[in-house]
Amino acid sequence: MSDFEERTVGELRVRIDRTLCVGFGDCITEAPAAFVLDELGVATFSAPETTAREQLLRACDACPVDAITVWNAAGAQIVPGACEQVP
Ligand code: SF4
Repeated sequence: MSDFEERTVGELRVRIDRTLCVGFGDCITEAPAAFVLDELGVATFSAPETTAREQLLRACDACPVDAITVWNAAGAQIVPGACEQVP
């Protein structure tokens, strides 16, 4: 298992930075079909393609340590969102 796990889901590119994940499981609470904790207690993909786009984005955005990054088809980063960086 590498430090980064990446999947293409529809037009989204989703990457888990496993070095950042602390296993809180917020992403799994939001999208239990998309993510799972492995035997190390670190998030990995389950079946993200079965989760609706908005729910998947919500789950990625729920990560408290921003371990999940999402890019759209144009290559623009949409999660973590820019709104989080505005005070
Ligand atoms: S929400 Fe973030 S820290 Fe928590 S399990 Fe998912 S990727 Fe890891």
